[in-house]
Amino acid sequence: MNEKIYSIDSKKFCEILMNIAECFSANEEYLNWLDGQIGDGDFGTNVGRGFRKIRDLLQQRKDVEQLDIGTILHEAAMQFMQVSGGASGPLIGMMLLEASKTMKGKKMVYVNDFIDMFSSMLRVAKLIGGAEVGDKTIVDVLQPVVDEMKKIVEKEKDIDMVKLFELLIQVARMHLEKTISMRARKGRASYLGERSVGKQDPGATAMYLIIRTFYETLNGRKGIKIVEYSKSTGAIIREEYLATTK
Ligand code: ADP
Ligand code: MG
Repeated sequence: MNEKIYSIDSKKFCEILMNIAECFSANEEYLNWLDGQIGDGDFGTNVGRGFRKIRDLLQQRKDVEQLDIGTILHEAAMQFMQVSGGASGPLIGMMLLEASKTMKGKKMVYVNDFIDMFSSMLRVAKLIGGAEVGDKTIVDVLQPVVDEMKKIVEKEKDIDMVKLFELLIQVARMHLEKTISMRARKGRASYLGERSVGKQDPGATAMYLIIRTFYETLNGRKGIKIVEYSKSTGAIIREEYLATTK
């Protein structure tokens, strides 16, 4: 039986961000491969570079554990936007920035804060990117995750974070696979038209990996590496845990 977690502090939150960097490094080739199928093959590099910059900042700043989470996310957004390019770089940067506003002055994250944080990221992604569900983007994982988060917390008011994210990774995974049959309507992949059908979206895959890293970090693990995937659709076949934290 896992330990129940109802809140996390700045230190644990930084650990999640650093683990996301680890996770994107471990899965950089896979994400580039996915982007190579329907885009220009730079997505893994973009997002990896951005989160590694965040990790470097968190490692350098000795006072980071005393900072509130809003400040941490704000700094993270600034770092990310400096180095991450493509369509996704500015978009994810703005999502982090929007999330930072919901955590302004807060040194602890409670379950309800996740709803605000992820809802704000979804809102800005849709606003800036103009994508809706079904367009084959990060929105296709983020929207159902936010919807489910609200539903779960509404139904089970005292749910803990581990259980919440355990349910969310299932939702994320299911909706990630649905992007395979979608036709891209946004970004570079949309230039392919009908030929974008049949491949898993890299951005949606990154969103799944992020949700997954929240869950694994809450469980004391670092995250996962996709060690086997379908060479035709990009669907995940086998995952392995990254080396355990501590
Ligand atoms: P590019 O190389 O086309 O500039 P990236 O490779 O950095 O872009 O990012 C590609 C990913 O970004 C896609 O897989 C998709 O999920 C996401 N994306 C692209 N356009 C949008 C958009 N308008 N709204 C939301 N997400 C988008
Ligand atoms: Mg690209």
